[in-house]
Amino acid sequence: MVWAIFPVLAVFSARRPNGLPRFESRPFGRLEKTMNSAIPEPVTKLVEAFSRLPGVGPKTASRLTYYLLRASDDVSIALALALTNLKEQTRFCSMCFNITVEDPCPVCASSERDASLIAVVEEPLDLMALERTGIYKGQYHVLHGAISPVSGVGPDDLKIRELVERVKTGAVREVIVATNPGMEGDATAMYLQRELSATGVVTTRLARGLPTGGDLEYVDSVTLMRALEGRSELG
Ligand SMILES: [Zn+2]
Repeated sequence: MVWAIFPVLAVFSARRPNGLPRFESRPFGRLEKTMNSAIPEPVTKLVEAFSRLPGVGPKTASRLTYYLLRASDDVSIALALALTNLKEQTRFCSMCFNITVEDPCPVCASSERDASLIAVVEEPLDLMALERTGIYKGQYHVLHGAISPVSGVGPDDLKIRELVERVKTGAVREVIVATNPGMEGDATAMYLQRELSATGVVTTRLARGLPTGGDLEYVDSVTLMRALEGRSELG
């Protein structure tokens, strides 16, 4: 009997009372197990490691891993070296908390930047987005996140205390709150405004026009430039 030889086909051939084919996972489950045990551990380890990265699903993780297996040795060696150096050769800037090789970072160390103006951003990538506009000549402060009660991120998990200290001790004239538009970014902006009010510094927020729920990192330079120019004072 043909179904005895091809049990997978037998499952497809079995019909439900409503006439729809019955997709049983049984034979595929067995097949998957056999395949998994056939994959060498170093391969599954790399697939797992890729899967932990943001935006990378199991399929992409497998594709990347098998690409590296087929690619020439120098591709994987360059990647391994870059990953090792990433943590070894970088640190936080002790002033603005951006990622840097040298401390202080080139922006904080530059005499051409206006030290009395600080743009507060959530992530280093937001800082890069503001830099791309080419019009901002002040300094930065990277919070490394935003206040989010849902994710359990409070003010103490961010570089807020360091910002307040910086404003208190330095000759800062204005703090531009450039957190992402949206609930978390707005909550962070409100908290910052309250914390900074005692220092007497002018606190401004980027103008609306930025997409709500969006990420500063993905906003085009013109929109970001307008938002920067049209910033308004908080409070
Ligand atoms: Zn810096």
